[in-house]
Amino acid sequence: MGNLFFFLFIIILALQIYILNSNKPASFKRRNFPRSMYAIGGLIFLNMVLERASIGTYFILIPVGLIIYFSIKNTKFCDWCGYRIDLSLPFRRKGLCPRCGSDIDEKRDYFS
Ligand SMILES: [Zn+2]
Repeated sequence: MGNLFFFLFIIILALQIYILNSNKPASFKRRNFPRSMYAIGGLIFLNMVLERASIGTYFILIPVGLIIYFSIKNTKFCDWCGYRIDLSLPFRRKGLCPRCGSDIDEKRDYFS
């Protein structure tokens, strides 16, 4: 079971790297990046259920959930070039895409 879990995890991570770095439009990345994060969270949860983890182990889901929430919240995509922008990084030119320099709406939320 552990091996299958690891295998699926690697596949989802590879998919996520593909989603983030492909030349697909921003709308595609906005739709599918959160999905890949939910898939990782779901996979961790499923593995715990199947492994019959003790109740205490489920507390891991709290930091996992927070990491997923903030990584989705802090990741924006440039409308013009599709570049991934991590809002949590320092030394960033606010409101501008680092690759093409077009305006980024940082307030917009992509939870949908
Ligand atoms: Zn851009």
